[in-house]
Amino acid sequence: MPQLRRPLAPLTALALTAALAVGVPLTGPAHAADAEPVDGAQTSGDVLFPHVGNGGYDAQHYDVDLAWTPAAQLDRSTIEATATMQAQTTGAPLRSFSMDLEGLQVESVTVDGADATWRRTNSDERVEHKLVVTPATPVLGDFTVEVAYGGVPEAHRDADGSLEGWNATSDGATFLNQPVGAMTGFPHNNTPADKATWTFTLDVPTRLAGGKAAAVGNGVLASQTPSADGARTTWVWDQPRQMASELTIISIGRYAAYHDTIRLASGRELPEWTFVDPTISDDDLATTLASRAQQKNIIDRLETIYGPYPGAATGLVVDVVPDGINYALETQDRSFFPSSADRSTTVHEITHQWWGDAVSPRVWNDIWINEGMATWSETNYANTLAGTSQTTTAEEFYDEWAGEPAGSDAWTIPPAAMTDSADLFGFQTYSRGAMMYEALRTVIGDDDFHTFIRAWQDRYSGTSHGIDDFTALAEEVSGRDLDAFFTDWLLDADKPAWPLRDQVRDPQARIAGQPVVGRTLRAVPGRHDAGTRLSYRWEVGGRKVAYGRTLAVRAKYVGRRVKVTVVSTKDGYRTLRSTSPLTSPVRR
Ligand SMILES: [Zn+2]
Repeated sequence: MPQLRRPLAPLTALALTAALAVGVPLTGPAHAADAEPVDGAQTSGDVLFPHVGNGGYDAQHYDVDLAWTPAAQLDRSTIEATATMQAQTTGAPLRSFSMDLEGLQVESVTVDGADATWRRTNSDERVEHKLVVTPATPVLGDFTVEVAYGGVPEAHRDADGSLEGWNATSDGATFLNQPVGAMTGFPHNNTPADKATWTFTLDVPTRLAGGKAAAVGNGVLASQTPSADGARTTWVWDQPRQMASELTIISIGRYAAYHDTIRLASGRELPEWTFVDPTISDDDLATTLASRAQQKNIIDRLETIYGPYPGAATGLVVDVVPDGINYALETQDRSFFPSSADRSTTVHEITHQWWGDAVSPRVWNDIWINEGMATWSETNYANTLAGTSQTTTAEEFYDEWAGEPAGSDAWTIPPAAMTDSADLFGFQTYSRGAMMYEALRTVIGDDDFHTFIRAWQDRYSGTSHGIDDFTALAEEVSGRDLDAFFTDWLLDADKPAWPLRDQVRDPQARIAGQPVVGRTLRAVPGRHDAGTRLSYRWEVGGRKVAYGRTLAVRAKYVGRRVKVTVVSTKDGYRTLRSTSPLTSPVRR
């Protein structure tokens, strides 16, 4: 299939430059042992965050072992932590490699148990916060790096002004990390392209703000162990599935904790842990607990179109957080909600467990894949899966598309070709992304559309994939060349065209009257959609003779057969043509 029109992927460019600069051939690990050691790239090649993420290795597993101690002023609370990363080199031996870590003080770094030297680089403006590690000897293949660090963790403010990373709350701290805030909590490879399994060991006070405290993580609660004097409790959370660091959560505070086992329609027993800040309003609590009770229905219904729920567990985390966090987030296995978890947002975040979490973006310009689907899913859930709406998914998205004028600024940012990270969470990511899915369903049909979204999960769950694999799979499933469609919807900086839809009714034209000279024949167009315009074309003996609703049978037609074609047109729909059967030969 033809290539989409877009610039050379920066990763390719950087990788080539790096390879040429150090004079090593572009070979796999088989030849790596012979290669000269290199310095790992201090980027993962993301256009929107060119100084975040790292190259030369692939993280396999992280152990984050963290003790949190509250200060009188909660935003001065401290952590004392050790982060251990097990990784593998991906090419040449590494003389040095980098991790992302924003703020905090590094106390020591070891690689495979031996002391390593390290340095930090920090630029808020460039969004560059590196811990550059030089092991005693170059690493090749498997290696383990252990970083002891601590201090006062701080929030990361994004280009759009929102907060992520480590944030103090009224009774603890909440650590949320999309897109790049995870580096405020631990050193790691901060790109969704490099997923890993995780263990969080969180040592926190047993009580906070006069009530029972909890330390929430992703995955499955492996243990909850009080200290000898009972003053502190260590919570161990295991994430056995592949997870991007942007989807990690650590949330510490006073919580009402709920635990259950949900038996899904598939028969799977899914553990659930939910944590709710007890200071939210009665209304917010009622809304949240209603959504909690709906998790089984939501997951059962979403499984019918996306396949088996990909997570290790489920649950909700509801907390009162700073104004800069006015968003819910699909933290893996346990989504986060500010103050309340309403039904529609819960559907959105649970959809993300497939879209974004199980299959993650490779770069941040792939975010429309997840947000578009999660947004489409809210409407599709109400209309189709739960059947609680009076409209159709197609009508809703068509109306939204039609309602945004072509001259609107909303269309000027292409979802897959953003150049400014301040735009990440805009209209083009959510609304245009969702419309794109509905437009795609219109183009390839409902059956192929559902085959495609299911295949995306079946093929890529647990990994990270972007636009090229997305468009290739849609073309593979549908057997169509979708280059123009995807360019229009994902890469062009203007309003995309809504694809023509099929008219619902299938008209069967026929002719009423007798083919006798002096009589009049009348076209009967059959049933048509409301709003259709009809035109007619009469042919006698294969020659066009008239364009009205009726035809006067003339003497010169004798011996020839007559047919009429009815053309029905309607704005936004494919033009339909229906041709009547031929009459018997015209007679006198
Ligand atoms: Zn979302």
